[in-house]
Amino acid sequence: MTQTTDLKAIADALQRHDRFLVVTHENPDGDALGSLLAITLALRQLGKDAVMYLPGDTPLPREYAFMPLEDLARVAPADAAERVLVAVDCAKEDRIGDDAVRSRAPLVLDIDHHHDNTRFGDVNLIVADASSTGEVLRDLFAELGVELTPELAEPLYIALVTDTGRFQYANTTPKSLRLAAELVEAGADVHAVFQEVYESVEFAKLKLLARALGRAEVLEGGRIVVSHLLRADFAEVGAAEPYSEGIIDYLRAVEGAELAVLVREQLHKSPHAYKGSLRSSIDELDVSVIARSFGGGGHRQAAGFSSSDSLDEIVERIRLGFREQRATSRA
Ligand code: 5GP
Ligand code: MN
Repeated sequence: MTQTTDLKAIADALQRHDRFLVVTHENPDGDALGSLLAITLALRQLGKDAVMYLPGDTPLPREYAFMPLEDLARVAPADAAERVLVAVDCAKEDRIGDDAVRSRAPLVLDIDHHHDNTRFGDVNLIVADASSTGEVLRDLFAELGVELTPELAEPLYIALVTDTGRFQYANTTPKSLRLAAELVEAGADVHAVFQEVYESVEFAKLKLLARALGRAEVLEGGRIVVSHLLRADFAEVGAAEPYSEGIIDYLRAVEGAELAVLVREQLHKSPHAYKGSLRSSIDELDVSVIARSFGGGGHRQAAGFSSSDSLDEIVERIRLGFREQRATSRA
């Protein structure tokens, strides 16, 4: 089994094989879906047979419904065991959401930007300082000689604009801004993406946001802002599971907040009752450490986990994790 982080090794593996199964992480975001679509179209441009697969029946977030994902498979294709598995934006193999697919694959390629990626692939391309997996893919496409058509540029732009928080998070670099310009030149439609991704909010999502804001509390003298959503909240406003995405950004924006926390009860069958999202507003706080204490993970500034502890226990554990790091960083 080769263990390498080389761009060329991934490019070689993609060139050598002909049939691929492309996957990403469950509860996919813009980078996940953008990267899934972009690499699939790139492989097809190279004359390969690539199938996109997202296990389960959870509906895709409304904001990504305009993406051309009509042929996204929701059950594994019959020939999955013969296809090289390509995982994008997926830090751990269990986040693919279908264990069988990983164990049966003849070869696994892991392309990501999460610093805590477990390198579960036979070949791994993990670029921790890339803003998004989309940014990693752009360099891979250059290596492969893939042409940046408008159909390819737009999903890469969606990956980039969403994972950088519209080019405002700390991961926004000169490179990511230059890439944005390149993608717009190649045909990505900035305004159309903005309207679909950010200006097509379902009314029920607004009402769900209202509930989360109404329930927001501060801890540690205002340095932690925490809220939660229960199944009943989703049911009463008519919200689907992905509607809670983005709510945490409002909690994080509060003056003096160093840590934002949103815990929501999971609607779909899952081994864990709750899903937690964590955001850090300061360099001294690495929320992936707190997420890992629950078995989750993510980035320094944005991380998540799932848990079956009670809401009070979850919040208390997060508060302790916060204190540990803030005590260390001030020592
Ligand atoms: P979100 O809070 O938006 O769901 O996720 C924020 C970040 O944390 C994402 O980069 C995601 O990859 C990571 N993350 C979220 N949930 C989990 C989880 O259950 N396990 C791991 N390993 N990472 C997660
Ligand atoms: Mn990402």
